[in-house]
Amino acid sequence: MTSFGPSEWTAICREAVTEFKAIRDELPQGKLRDDITERIKRVESTLTRADAELAQKLGFYLCKCEFPATPMLWREGESAHVCPKCGHRREVHRHAVKVGMNSRDRREARRASGTDFDVFTGE
Ligand SMILES: [Zn+2]
Repeated sequence: MTSFGPSEWTAICREAVTEFKAIRDELPQGKLRDDITERIKRVESTLTRADAELAQKLGFYLCKCEFPATPMLWREGESAHVCPKCGHRREVHRHAVKVGMNSRDRREARRASGTDFDVFTGE
């Protein structure tokens, strides 16, 4: 028995919809074709909602520029999660952050404590 991962399942469903559209396009104009077009639209809407729910369960950030929400995709070169529809970015800051006292604060602390010099800077 073959098992499919969630993303494969979604891709397979989208391919099925594409096939349904190709079949619909071969039908003559009329009520049957219009009915099938409407049913395909409903299936696509359901698939889009399922994609958003799946993405959320897999830990993707969701952009709220449309309903249902759009999964934001990671762009390594930009260090950000980016919405493929509107371009909204959620950046991840990886820069080192300096913590602790600056040199003036260290001098003040030394003066207050009576220490002659800073063992790390020699000041
Ligand atoms: Zn968006």
